[in-house]
Amino acid sequence: MPWCERCDRFLNPNTVQPDGTCPSCGRPIDPAAAAEGAEEDEQASVPWHFWVLVAGVVLYLGWRFVELLLWIAREWF
Ligand SMILES: [Zn+2]
Repeated sequence: MPWCERCDRFLNPNTVQPDGTCPSCGRPIDPAAAAEGAEEDEQASVPWHFWVLVAGVVLYLGWRFVELLLWIAREWF
C-alpha cells in the first residue's frame, strides 16, 4: 500500500498519479511502496498461461460433451 509521509496517510494504488506522486500534495510516493503497487497491478492482469489453461479446459470439456452426445446416440438410437 503506497504511503505518503507528508499527508501521513495510506493511498489507494489507483489514486496515486501515473508519475508516482501523491494526488493530494504532489510529493513523490515512497519508491518501495510504489513498486509494491505496480506489482499488485501486474498480478491483477491475467497472465498468459491462464488463457492456455482456459483453452485446455474448454477443449477438454468440449470433447467430453461430444463424447457424451456420441454415447447418448449409441445407447438410445
Ligand atoms: Zn501527499
